[in-house]
Amino acid sequence: MSILKETTQNEMEEILKRQKDYLNKQSTKSIDFRIDQLKKLKGQIKSYEQEIFAALKEDLNKSEFESYLTEIGILYSEIDFTLKNVRKWTKAKKVKTALTHFGSRGYIIPEPYGTALIIAPWNYPIQLALSPLIGAIAAGNTAIIKPSELTPHVSKVISDLIRSAFPVEYIAVVEGGVKTSQSLLKLDTDYIFFTGSVNVGKAVMEAASRRLIPVTLELGGKSPCIVHKDANVKLAAKRIIFGKFTNAGQTCIAPDYLFVHKEIKEELIDAMKLIIREFYGDSPVTHDSYGKIVNSFHFNRLQGYLGNGRILTGGEYDEGTLKIAPTIMDDVDWDSPVMQEEIFGPIFPVLEYSSLDEVISSINKRPKPLALYLFTDSSAVEDQITGSISFGGGSINDTLMHIATPYLPFGGVGESGIGSYHGMSSFQTFSHYKSILKQTNKFDFSFKYPSARSGLKIMRK
Ligand code: NAD
Repeated sequence: MSILKETTQNEMEEILKRQKDYLNKQSTKSIDFRIDQLKKLKGQIKSYEQEIFAALKEDLNKSEFESYLTEIGILYSEIDFTLKNVRKWTKAKKVKTALTHFGSRGYIIPEPYGTALIIAPWNYPIQLALSPLIGAIAAGNTAIIKPSELTPHVSKVISDLIRSAFPVEYIAVVEGGVKTSQSLLKLDTDYIFFTGSVNVGKAVMEAASRRLIPVTLELGGKSPCIVHKDANVKLAAKRIIFGKFTNAGQTCIAPDYLFVHKEIKEELIDAMKLIIREFYGDSPVTHDSYGKIVNSFHFNRLQGYLGNGRILTGGEYDEGTLKIAPTIMDDVDWDSPVMQEEIFGPIFPVLEYSSLDEVISSINKRPKPLALYLFTDSSAVEDQITGSISFGGGSINDTLMHIATPYLPFGGVGESGIGSYHGMSSFQTFSHYKSILKQTNKFDFSFKYPSARSGLKIMRK
């Protein structure tokens, strides 16, 4: 029996109505109010830490260490950063005006969109539901959060944590699956922030277009990891294995496949095998802190890839615990099924190259990746790759870490997403920037009026 508490369409409509009334009272606008709510959110996460750890263990077998590092810790630093800067971000910004507007002043003020709908996926189910919420609160919105149904224990904790601190007219959690999500998308919300797969992202954008609701789409795709011949191989191996097998590869920005220079291929693969053993022991499928696959659908999908190439290490799995060992796979090409779609699991195909032009043209033939990783000691190589390939964001000589700093906006491009968030970018995402021109009454230039013949001459200059 599902532990999710389903919400009816009427209840959703009622929540939205209450949120709109709440917004109309200007309740969310004061900066002091927003700051109080952010502090309250942080306090709630802190007091629910044990419940969060237990739910993440239950749904994804995440260890406390990994849960803190990749979910809760990121939220704390995001809230702290926002608290430190939100007053500055909300200030009106004065801008210059053109000569034709002499005497007037221009300024831009951020205002909340209104009610933000946040739809979250299951892979980092706490972080990806609550991190956008930080931006929504900071910008003065109300919010409706729809956690993923595939991590039901986490969904319940999110619901409890929010319900016990915030009234539904301010922040509400609506639990449920695809149907619930589709019903929410029919509501007249003011902003939709969606994190999930490319195909569902397209459906979200289609639904949003019916009411012209602005969207942020945080999607996925195949993120390449390029290791050039001048890379520090040992460090690269460690950082790549960390990025690929954290959460059993179920990370939107995990390196999806490896593109390695043929001169160092063997050395790198040997180093990666050693690191896998160092991190997860001789039998990763029985290692207590190695993640499991979220459900049997995805387990079977991933298992299907195991025959797509020659397994260099890994390949073991346990259907009972839904675990698949960290697997490195050789002899694959772009036509192999494992190279046709986002893997989103602990299988790492290896392609080799001899020239960077080959790498650039292969990646540029395919949808723009969400992330790209490059290991090299040469800034010329770095410039060549970052300058010739379009991708959402990435790291040089590391993996994943670009997501964990509030100073870098995070998001995709092309099929990997639209818009970005984190830090100031979250605030901007949930704000409409209203442009105002304030005219002087001290004098009035008459050239713009139909009666002024000479006006056209002045404007054409
Ligand atoms: P998903 O698209 O299946 O589901 C995401 C959310 O959308 C869930 O809450 C789900 O209930 C809802 N949903 C599912 N089908 C729907 C439909 N037809 N209409 C409306 N709503 C629907 O994604 P997922 O399996 O939960 O997550 C994995 C995907 O998300 C991967 O592709 C991954 O790369 C991507 N992802 C991206 C980021 C990012 O920040 N860019 C982060 C995490 C995951």
